[in-house]
Amino acid sequence: MDDLEKVHRLRQDFPILNRELAGVGTPRRLVYLDNAATTQKPRSVLDAITAYYETSNANVHRAIHTLGEEATRLYELAREKTRAFLNAEFSEEIIFTRGTTESINLVASSFCSLLNPGDEILLTEMEHHSNLVPWQMAAQRHGLVLKFIPFDPDGVLEFGKLPQLWTSRVRLLALTHTSNVLGTVNPVADFVRFAHERGVPVLVDGAQAAPHRPVDVQALDVDFYAFSSHKMLGPTGLGVLYGKKDWLEKLPPFAGGGEMIRSVTLEGFEPNVLPYKFEAGTPNIEGAVGFAAALDYLGTVGLDWIHGWEQKLTSYALEQIKRVPGLTVYGKAPDRAGVVAFSLEGVHAHDLSAYLDQSGVAVRAGHHCAHPLARKLGVISTARASFYLYNTFEEIDRWIQALEAGAKIL
Ligand code: PLP
Repeated sequence: MDDLEKVHRLRQDFPILNRELAGVGTPRRLVYLDNAATTQKPRSVLDAITAYYETSNANVHRAIHTLGEEATRLYELAREKTRAFLNAEFSEEIIFTRGTTESINLVASSFCSLLNPGDEILLTEMEHHSNLVPWQMAAQRHGLVLKFIPFDPDGVLEFGKLPQLWTSRVRLLALTHTSNVLGTVNPVADFVRFAHERGVPVLVDGAQAAPHRPVDVQALDVDFYAFSSHKMLGPTGLGVLYGKKDWLEKLPPFAGGGEMIRSVTLEGFEPNVLPYKFEAGTPNIEGAVGFAAALDYLGTVGLDWIHGWEQKLTSYALEQIKRVPGLTVYGKAPDRAGVVAFSLEGVHAHDLSAYLDQSGVAVRAGHHCAHPLARKLGVISTARASFYLYNTFEEIDRWIQALEAGAKIL
């Protein structure tokens, strides 16, 4: 089966892609190019969630009855599938959270509570607010110093500046795997090697990478890796924190409540074993069930194929977009994901996005939760198209045609 046939077949698994939107003139078939914000869900994910509620709904790790055991088995199966997806060594290294944001907050809060005033956290200038604000909050609380690795005009991190920025007070390096604005894919393994040679752990924000290319946490040797189910065909409200067992064992619990304790007295508590120590309260069981179905789906389609297909779409888009007069594309890294941030001279990104919407084309407009990055680019906001496995060349044509029309009218 060739690529085009494969895409047209798998599109049939996504009911929402058949949606017709009212716009100018006749209704238009949806062209969904906002995948970096969230992705659409295949029927198998929707069915798995419904089946869970229709047959096995109960709380997990508590009840000694059939439904309780089934729900627990499904929840833990999701953890095992996530372990296999990342090639993590142990399933207790997989913590379920609400999303990338909560995963990073967990590490920032817990890890930084072990630090001393004056200790340093090294970040980059291209971070999403999720991998910036939690560190700023921890820095305020514990008197830490934040430092930033810059990126060059192509949107490539300046690896060569690391030795200058490094001091003996650096305690953790946190960086994004793939930029949600520039599309830059960072050479994570090189950063990890540099930090590990100096005995410092690394956290990677994988929100825009794990959905799009194979990730092997052991090969990358990362200490923490965070990502979200909803950006990879799964439901919202579920995320993952991978952490090396040794690190997770050292970190204090993040939130308190049921499930995360082994024993409690009126005076204090003893934390539970991993991974439960970090999963306080009733978890998102339906989210885990849906996420397991999403992982099955991604496994069948193949992450290597998804990566290859998105590369083809991105090259085509970057070529076609040159036709549009007055258009700027941000980010020129050689290793680039399917994210294209752009602006049209003299047109606000919100107006551009609203205009494209009239043609049924959904793109994001704004600062993409990366204020400092936008400021460095010298823009208030940009529009952004981002691709996933179900997008086609025809959809890119529809987007570019609408942009060309917009360039004339707006
Ligand atoms: N990090 C990056 C690079 C992102 O693109 C996003 C979401 O857009 C996040 C973190 C936050 O993800 P979530 O909102 O699912 O927690």
